[in-house]
Amino acid sequence: MNFDTKVFPLRPAWVEIDLARLRRNLQLIRRDLPRGVRMMAIVKDEAYGHGALDVARIALEEGAWGFGLSTLEEAMALREAGIAAPLLLLGERQEDELSWCVEHDLTVCLNEANTARALARAAAARGKRVPVHVKINTGMSRYGVRWDEALPLIEQICEEKFLLLDGVMTHFAQSDETDKTFANLQVSRFDEVLRGLAERGIRVKYRHLCNSGGFLDLPHAHRDLVRIGILMYGIFPSTVCRRIPGIEPVMSVKARVASIQNLKAGEVVGYGMRYTAPAPRRIAVLPIGYGDGFPRVRNLGAALIHGKRAPLVGGIAMDALMVDVTDIPEAQVWDEAVVMGRQGGEEITVHEMAKLKNSVSYDVLTGWRLRLRRQCVNGDSKPVTDANPDAGQLVETAAK
Ligand SMILES: *Cc1c(COP(=O)(O)O)cnc(C)c1O
Repeated sequence: MNFDTKVFPLRPAWVEIDLARLRRNLQLIRRDLPRGVRMMAIVKDEAYGHGALDVARIALEEGAWGFGLSTLEEAMALREAGIAAPLLLLGERQEDELSWCVEHDLTVCLNEANTARALARAAAARGKRVPVHVKINTGMSRYGVRWDEALPLIEQICEEKFLLLDGVMTHFAQSDETDKTFANLQVSRFDEVLRGLAERGIRVKYRHLCNSGGFLDLPHAHRDLVRIGILMYGIFPSTVCRRIPGIEPVMSVKARVASIQNLKAGEVVGYGMRYTAPAPRRIAVLPIGYGDGFPRVRNLGAALIHGKRAPLVGGIAMDALMVDVTDIPEAQVWDEAVVMGRQGGEEITVHEMAKLKNSVSYDVLTGWRLRLRRQCVNGDSKPVTDANPDAGQLVETAAK
C-alpha cells in the first residue's frame, strides 16, 4: 500500500519533520566543529523517530562522514537505500549477524574476544578485511571492554589478518551536566589505553568519545570524530550544556480538531469522568492519544490552537484527547493544532513533553509511534550556505 499523501489521505494527526531545520542544524554543528574532526550522525531508532532515510540523505549532503545505528535491520535499510557511507553498529552483535555485517560492509563494535574471533572467521570466509571499532568501557559499564583490560583484546584484533583496527571509542555516562568530574575521569582512562597503544606502535585512525553533550562541553575529547545524535535533531541534551544559537527542533507533532463539544456547568469529560466543567465550556477533540505516544495524563498539558494554549481536560484516550478552547472562540473543526512544537508565538517544547511523561527528551522523540505518519516539509530548501567546508569531510565509501 502506498501511503504517500499524494495518493492517500493523511490522517488528521501526524509528525512533521522540517528538513530545512535539520540541514541548518547540521551546518551549524559543522561550523562549530574544529577542522579535521569528522561527524558521525547517529540515526538509530529511525533517527530518533524522525525517519532514518530522510535524515541520512540530508546528513550526507551536509558532510556527515558516516552513521551510527543499533540494529542490523536499521543498517540494512540504509544499505538497501544505496547509502555507501560507513555504518557503525553500536552495541554487541550475535554471531549469526556477523556474516551479514561482512557481506554489507557494516562496521562492528567489538567488546570481547569471542566476537572478534567469530568476525575474523566470517571475514576470512569471504576473503574480506573488515574495519572494526573497539569499544572501551571507561566507567559507564554498559558495552565495552574495561579500560584496564583493553590492550590484550586490541592486540588480538591487530593479529587477525582479516580484521582492521579502524577505531577505538568510549561513551560518556554523563557529559551534559555542569559537573564534568566523571566525564574527565573517563577521558583519562581512555587516554591510558591510547598511551598503551602508542607504546606498542599500534595506530588507530578514529579515536572517538563524544556524544552531543561531549561535543558541546568537552572540546578536549573531540579527537578524530564526534557522534552526534540529539543535537542534530535540534534538542540540547540538557538545560545547562553550551548553546549553539540557531539550533532548532526538527520535529513537531500536529493534529486537526475533529469535533467540538459545548458543555454545560457540571458536565464531565472523558473516561473516568476526571474533569467536571465548572461553568459552560467549549471542548475541542484532537484525534491523537496514548496509542500514538502521547503521555497518558489527566488534566495536564496543552495543545496550541490559533497560537494559544488550550489546556488538556480529562484523561487522554488511546485515540483522542480533549482540550479546552473556551478562550479561543475562533477555533473550528479541522483547524490545525500543535501538540508539540511552535504555533504563533507559543511553543510546547520537547522538554515540556518530557516532564509530562516523567522522562527525558530522547524518550519523547522516539516515543511517537509510527502510526503517526512522518510528513517531511521544506525538503527542497537551498543546501549549504555558510557552513565551514573543512569541518566535515566528504563522504567515503565503506568498501575498504
Ligand atoms: C546514542 C548514542 C550517541 C548519541 O548520543 P546523543 O546524546 O544523542 O548525541 C553517541 N554514541 C553512542 C554510543 C550512542 O549510543
